[in-house]
Amino acid sequence: MKNRKNLSAADKELMDCALSALKNAYAPYSHFAVGAAVRTATNRIYLGANLENASYGLGICAEVAAICAANTAGDFNIIEIAVIGQSLSPENLNMDSIVMPCGRCRQIILEAGQVSGGGVKVIASNASLTMISKTDIEKLLPYGFGPRNLMRLDK
Ligand SMILES: [Zn+2]
Repeated sequence: MKNRKNLSAADKELMDCALSALKNAYAPYSHFAVGAAVRTATNRIYLGANLENASYGLGICAEVAAICAANTAGDFNIIEIAVIGQSLSPENLNMDSIVMPCGRCRQIILEAGQVSGGGVKVIASNASLTMISKTDIEKLLPYGFGPRNLMRLDK
């Protein structure tokens, strides 16, 4: 377990970007804001925030938004993603736990990692950046089904 002080400068930057994105979350229903930032092999960073909808099932996770931003820019070689979540609900403001990507996001991150060929590092944190976990998508989704299974990659 790390905190912000013992992260590399690159990881601090990515976490700060995710925290910045979190501030733009549109979460009027869950009152749970999530920010994400992805770094690509070109060393560019793309941001995403969760976007909820009155039709609840249509909500978009921050991780998906960030990955879509990278792909839309033609920069899909994602090597790392940072995720931060924070409750905005008054009764839960003291909740400060690490927020990991949901199952759907893990699948989408796995796809990006298999396409890049190098996997994706996942840094997840609580909102105060005092508890930070850094791992690999292959550990968060072991034996995951991906493009390799469809033999659509040379890597
Ligand atoms: Zn998700």
